[in-house]
Amino acid sequence: MEHSELAVRRIREGTVIDHIDGGRGLQVLSALGIDGGDGSQVTVALNVPSGKFSKKDIIKVEGRFLRDDDTNKLAVIAPRATINMIRDYRLVEKRRASLPDRIGRIFRCANPGCITNSRERIESVMEVVDREGRILRCRYCSRTLDIDRLRYN
Ligand SMILES: [Zn+2]
Repeated sequence: MEHSELAVRRIREGTVIDHIDGGRGLQVLSALGIDGGDGSQVTVALNVPSGKFSKKDIIKVEGRFLRDDDTNKLAVIAPRATINMIRDYRLVEKRRASLPDRIGRIFRCANPGCITNSRERIESVMEVVDREGRILRCRYCSRTLDIDRLRYN
């Protein structure tokens, strides 16, 4: 058995996010608002050996299933992540985080002068212009999203 399998076993009901790029786990936690504050059991494994030369982070959260917004955030922060939904200790669904063509609302544009940051009630729209390179660009002002400094609406 792989080390990683040990690390993700035995969750009764909830989500296991696996294959997060090593070192991105904490950013994923904060993006998804997972802080254990609601009393749910959260396990985080950082820099777990994965293959010969790489490392990955793993997060398992009891009692939580990801929404589309969460999946979109994951796709940007940790594009290789897999999302495993567990019910009654069994894997019922396995998904990959995948980027849609555009992502509405959740990311805040970094340009303070952007109309989406003004008092107009216009929701942000990020166009995915490069899937591989994870380049997202604001539809309104064309500012590129810095994925290391994401801010959320
Ligand atoms: Zn903008």
